[in-house]
Amino acid sequence: MRRWNSAVIAVLALSVAIPAFSQKKVKDLKFHHMQDYCWMRLAEIVPEVTDRAILPIGTVESHGACPIGSDNIIPQNLSEIIWDEINALIAPPINHGFTGSSISQFPGSITVREEIFEEYIYDVLKNLVRSGFNNILIINGHGGNTEPAKRAFTRLHRETGAHFMIVDWWEIAWNLAEEIYGQKPIQSGHGDLEESALVLSYNPDLVDKEMYQKLGKQNVGRHGAEKGYSMMPAWATTRYPEDGAGHLDFDSEKAKEYTQKKAKHIAETFNEAVRRWEMMEGWK
Ligand SMILES: [Zn+2]
Repeated sequence: MRRWNSAVIAVLALSVAIPAFSQKKVKDLKFHHMQDYCWMRLAEIVPEVTDRAILPIGTVESHGACPIGSDNIIPQNLSEIIWDEINALIAPPINHGFTGSSISQFPGSITVREEIFEEYIYDVLKNLVRSGFNNILIINGHGGNTEPAKRAFTRLHRETGAHFMIVDWWEIAWNLAEEIYGQKPIQSGHGDLEESALVLSYNPDLVDKEMYQKLGKQNVGRHGAEKGYSMMPAWATTRYPEDGAGHLDFDSEKAKEYTQKKAKHIAETFNEAVRRWEMMEGWK
């Protein structure tokens, strides 16, 4: 009887203590980057304060007048905008990805073989799960990464039950190009209006206006028009939707609005996914 009483007291004490601690959010902590903590502190935070992580992934490759790091800069900046809204810690990013041969030849481009990238991201995600992250959002800056990343997290979900989402920024909320710029969205554009907007909103100095003029309209592929033939290498380091569309717009206010709305949509999509994942698990 005495043991029963002490057990009841312990449960009551816990039920008071746990909600108080779990009300703490990432924004109440000292840092929102996982790597800024010592491991003992991280063990206190995950999963009690959050079990959500953002993993930004990208690559280094030529993008016309945009920086070669555009695919890294964009997901890292989007992560900085949304971590609070989704209550997540930001994991150290993966900056080297699978860049296609057609533009790997240009200065600064770095590529990792697809099969190596898949195993690499699998290992990174596996260790995030082991550390207590059960809901992981991958913000992706580069098309070549999508399929190997999806294969990696599908395997990992089967093995651990953890939840994963990958977001390709150029696909999600794709109607924003029309809403803000009155332009046809490209969806697989490259170094174009939309990609440069996401870079400009982070730092306007990073899009090289002088080189943009020099490259001119000759350094443009046309998405959708390049059908019926293949070549190696590509004939341009940028791709626009069609003639007369997709050219860069240096208006920084529009770029900020585009970026903020894109980020908001990503945050809402992930929050909704976590809510549903947890709801479904409650029914199991
Ligand atoms: Zn890119």
